[in-house]
Amino acid sequence: SQRVVIIGAGIVGTNLADELVSRGWTNITVVDQGPLDMPGGSTSHAPGLVFQTNGSKALALLATYTKNKLLSLEKDGQACFNPVGGLEIATTPARLEELKRKLGYAASWGIEAHLVSADQCLEIYPHLNKDLVLGGLHTPTDGLALAARAVQLLIERTRAAGVRYIGSTPVTGIEQGAGRVTGVITPSGTIPADIIISCAGFWGVEVGAMVGLSVPLLPMGHQYVKTTAVPASKGRNELPNGANLPILRYQDQDLYYREHGEQYGIGFYNHRPMPVTAASLGLTPSHVNEQNMPSRLEFTPEDFEPAWKLSQEIIPALKESQIADGFNGIMSFTPDGGPLVGLAPNFENFYVAEAVWVTQSAGVARALAEVLTTGKSTIDLSECELSRFDQVQLSPAYVKETSSQNFVEVYDILHPFQPKESPRNLRVSPFNGRHRELGAYFLETGGWERPEWFESNAELLKQLPAKWQPVERDAWSAQFYSPIAAAEAWKTRTAAALYDLTANRRLEVSGPGAVHLLQRLTTGNVTKRPGSVTYTLLLDGHGGIRSDITVTRLSDEVFLVNANGNTDVAYLSREALKQKKITPERGVQVRDITGGTCCIGLWGPRSRDVMAAVSTDDFSDKGLPYLSVRRAIISGIPVTAIRRSHVGELGWEIYASAENGLRLWDALWQAGQPHGLIAAGRAAFYSLRLENGIRLWGTDVTTEHDPFEAGLDFALQAGKDGYVGHSAVKGRSRTTATRRLRSLTIDDGRSMVLGKEPVFFNGQSVGYVTSAAFGFTIGKPIAFAYLPTTVNEGDSVEIQYFGQRIQATVVPEIVYDSQMSHSGV
Ligand code: FAD
Repeated sequence: SQRVVIIGAGIVGTNLADELVSRGWTNITVVDQGPLDMPGGSTSHAPGLVFQTNGSKALALLATYTKNKLLSLEKDGQACFNPVGGLEIATTPARLEELKRKLGYAASWGIEAHLVSADQCLEIYPHLNKDLVLGGLHTPTDGLALAARAVQLLIERTRAAGVRYIGSTPVTGIEQGAGRVTGVITPSGTIPADIIISCAGFWGVEVGAMVGLSVPLLPMGHQYVKTTAVPASKGRNELPNGANLPILRYQDQDLYYREHGEQYGIGFYNHRPMPVTAASLGLTPSHVNEQNMPSRLEFTPEDFEPAWKLSQEIIPALKESQIADGFNGIMSFTPDGGPLVGLAPNFENFYVAEAVWVTQSAGVARALAEVLTTGKSTIDLSECELSRFDQVQLSPAYVKETSSQNFVEVYDILHPFQPKESPRNLRVSPFNGRHRELGAYFLETGGWERPEWFESNAELLKQLPAKWQPVERDAWSAQFYSPIAAAEAWKTRTAAALYDLTANRRLEVSGPGAVHLLQRLTTGNVTKRPGSVTYTLLLDGHGGIRSDITVTRLSDEVFLVNANGNTDVAYLSREALKQKKITPERGVQVRDITGGTCCIGLWGPRSRDVMAAVSTDDFSDKGLPYLSVRRAIISGIPVTAIRRSHVGELGWEIYASAENGLRLWDALWQAGQPHGLIAAGRAAFYSLRLENGIRLWGTDVTTEHDPFEAGLDFALQAGKDGYVGHSAVKGRSRTTATRRLRSLTIDDGRSMVLGKEPVFFNGQSVGYVTSAAFGFTIGKPIAFAYLPTTVNEGDSVEIQYFGQRIQATVVPEIVYDSQMSHSGV
């Protein structure tokens, strides 16, 4: 068995040892700098509240697994989870609405939850102040993880199964060479390893630095206090930590509560961010106790003052108590709030599982154990992938600013489209200046500024035919939206529009081994002659879709690959290295060319007229058929043009070197004016792509879906075998699939949904919306949703939006395609 070393014996490291040993791995060592009975990390003082419901499906499912596992982990009749339930209360109308949205998430991810009235809140939680509470969300299966106890039981159980634990031993270095780590260095010697997994919690940055890896997390102080005994709680619970009342969240004031016997525990997030550098904390003492551990900093009572006042207001019984003990505990925050899980980009065998809350701990451990033992986690990990960040997002300044902001916003009501306020303008396309002149409204993705719509098109609303007029929206879906998108969609369908596609990831894959690599990893046939374009899938070994990419063969050994994100870059680069190592004659380079290039989508029925005005190259159907590529000159600029669109219209993706971008834009812009050309933004794009049945990876499609479920089986090349995932999908079909991604339209033609809402069929929650938009061409909102294959085209379903049921109908996958060209590309 491979020699595994896990750094860290907190709730994550010990769960990982357990998940690996239960899958038959035998040679596992866990090292911790602290004493094993209480290692002194965040787990050692964690109050352990587990609220499962989350906007992220992955985080919710990881939490549910954690809860179930801790419930089953018991000794002497006591489990490591106390299912007291969870109550989230609203004291503002906005929060009440937010809880309705949360109720939807719970239904989407299979968690039982109920909206409860103010009176019912009082019944569930009699200590609450009736005058303040407007209502709540009750989740009966939430509760308290006994995290420190779980660690001890896991150590006991895994030790008995052969896991070796080494306490009070810091890892001070990691041996490495040629993309592999080979052992951890400690003061008592080196422990050789075939696989190393860092579960070092907020020390992750320091451990990462040992192998030159930037781990984007920020350790932050977070205040937690215990009160003196509360008379109203006298005799209710077992001492010292028993609890019967549900765990309570008062998010309007950034507070949460649990019982500790007769005392209350209060956690507070609305204090100034308190970033910490783990390296400054010094060595873990040889004896750790509740009061003396590195993850526990001196309490700063002045920061807690408002929390104490607010707590006594919401739970008047606390007026009979005082603060007995408080501390500023350290935990990890990340730039996007998600955990950091997975293989380090530059290594074959160094993994990380950090910035993980107790809430998701066992789930994350299982997921990583599955990755290690079978190559794939049952729960899609893309939102947790360590490699999801771009270089510009790994700088310490970026990590500090964005992670601090996440701390500030941890309980805030956040719109799904709400952009970061800062840092902005980290990455801009060459057209950015023109976009600004046109009054672009920008949202941010991966550091890139992307126009959503252009105020300059507001004038067009006056000309908009009645059928295209946008409908009035509810206040929530009207945020980060402008009716101008309707005008931009109209112009795309009736004239022509320029879309900035620069932020989309582009790679150059080249070398004598390029064909072999792409042929081995994709479901398509990329051996076609230069000039061909192939939309294809990257599957995992189990047939799940790890990405969808477009492979354009520019010459025998050079391919342009349109990919989805940094995780794709890490995967392709790693596979390229592996191939080169095994077969040096099949050398292949993977180069991210996104920043040095730019891309414009010129789409719409008049786009050929626009092109004719700026280029003498042949852009006719015959000269450049659908899904083919040519090098061409546009207004003196060398470009690569691919005939395809994501919106179901005639047009091309036009690539150029970044320094030529501005001239390219200007040339197309000027040539397009007589033909009604406009600049259009992402809001119009989103609508048109949904009408055209185009899936978005990460949103509509993940590793949890196979090509048949996702409706992407057309991308499996008939007769091709031997590619990654082939043996898994062999024998599967649309008939064997039990669910399908379906297109739905909203019957009343106006009620919006935004994504992640549950879908009901015959009164049962059967699936969830992946993405949605108003379909401007068809004059109705449109949504994609995974539904059982027993639900058919023409069937009526209901989507739950803020607690209301909206009638929708299952419609054909592609509701609009002027080109009748496609599908799916
Ligand atoms: P840790 O428990 O910190 O374990 C990491 C281990 O790695 C440590 O034992 C450390 O000694 C060891 N280590 C680090 N570096 C080295 C090295 N170089 N060599 C050897 N060993 C090393 N989460 C919830 O889900 N619910 C809550 O209610 C909750 N409340 C919280 C309240 C407070 C006040 C705080 C601070 C956190 C809270 N959290 C909560 C967060 C939660 O405690 C942590 O996210 C979780 O415990 C992290 O577990 P871990 O195993 O990753 O890290």
